[in-house]
Amino acid sequence: MLDQTRLRADIPAYADPSRPTPVFLDSAGSSLPPRSVLDTMITHLHREAEVGGYRAANERLADLAAVKTSIGELINADPAGIALSDSASRSWADFFYSVPLAPGDRILISGSDYASNAIAALQRARAAGAVVESIPSDESGQIDIAAFGALLDERVKLVSLVHVPTNGGLVNPVGEVVKLAHDANALVLLDACQSAGQLPLDVLEFGVDALSATGRKWLRGPRGTGFLYVRPDLATTMEPQRLDLHSAQWTGPAEYRLAEDASRFEFWECDVAARLGLGAAVRYLLDLGPDNVYAAVAANAAHLRAELPRIAGVTVRDLGARHSGIVSFTVDGVESVDVRDRLAERDVTVTVSHAGSTLLDMTARRLSSVVRASPHCFVTTADLDRFLEAVETVAARR
Ligand SMILES: *Cc1c(COP(=O)(O)O)cnc(C)c1O
Repeated sequence: MLDQTRLRADIPAYADPSRPTPVFLDSAGSSLPPRSVLDTMITHLHREAEVGGYRAANERLADLAAVKTSIGELINADPAGIALSDSASRSWADFFYSVPLAPGDRILISGSDYASNAIAALQRARAAGAVVESIPSDESGQIDIAAFGALLDERVKLVSLVHVPTNGGLVNPVGEVVKLAHDANALVLLDACQSAGQLPLDVLEFGVDALSATGRKWLRGPRGTGFLYVRPDLATTMEPQRLDLHSAQWTGPAEYRLAEDASRFEFWECDVAARLGLGAAVRYLLDLGPDNVYAAVAANAAHLRAELPRIAGVTVRDLGARHSGIVSFTVDGVESVDVRDRLAERDVTVTVSHAGSTLLDMTARRLSSVVRASPHCFVTTADLDRFLEAVETVAARR
């Protein structure tokens, strides 16, 4: 069990007792960091200003190495299989663009895949003469395993599997997809951007070939951070699409040698303060006990999913047989952006997911947008009730 009083005390946003506490339900967008993350970053920025960025970074080599160790602990991976970056999309693309494609090859994407992934797949398919096909969803809205199996053949080179989509509470089955894909010799790249920090991730149990995630969402790290996990034997054999003097070494006038682990997918320059902040965020999660956090997120989302449908005019839009911490809904007669803005007037933060972010799924369901509430473990029942009351007021005025 988590101590919510302590969790709240750790959050700078709740530090001022003279301010009414905001209701924050956007951890699927960009969450509230714990104080250790903010302090770590500010301290490092000050140090850079005092002694220059190189010396400041050299003083923190152990902490920088610990970033990957902590991420490895969280997802059950060897730190050598982790490459840090500035976003989930960057990490996803770093892997995806390095998978060789030939004319006639097929790329399968999830029915609720993220726009950035789909766009990259379309671009590469166009350049390589490959094709992009979407995996059908079953009645629950998750990947249709039987249909997926029927789609597979030796021309499928890569499966883009979104673990939790950006626009709702669905959780896709990973193990079954990986097993079928591997039987057909296809790689599985798991987009864990919305699951990292709210659901258990075990890359060995999943058997995925690669996984990408961001820092700022459920992990509560800084903006401009992300990471890629690459299966060890791929991390030492794949040639990344782009290289620099960190991902490879210039060993002779006409020669270079790739780094011997997943750091071959990294460039040298980075925002060191943000990277240290990400390390602090993952450390904070590990210290709380990830399972405690996951249980609290699930309980908060379940509360909203049970209560929202009681409000006249409100429809919960979550798909899936299993649910995540993202709760999506619409209000009859009120545009999602207006719902968001009216809630913001009451100091309640939610966000809107537009059709363009998950085009296939939203088009199939004829939805142009949904309101997205994503309560983290630090959100109290009182916060949730304030949110529900605010939604009720908005819905009543339609
Ligand atoms: C937010 C999101 C991304 C992209 O993350 P960035 O860090 O913004 O690149 C990818 N996939 C899903 C499912 C997301 O929700």
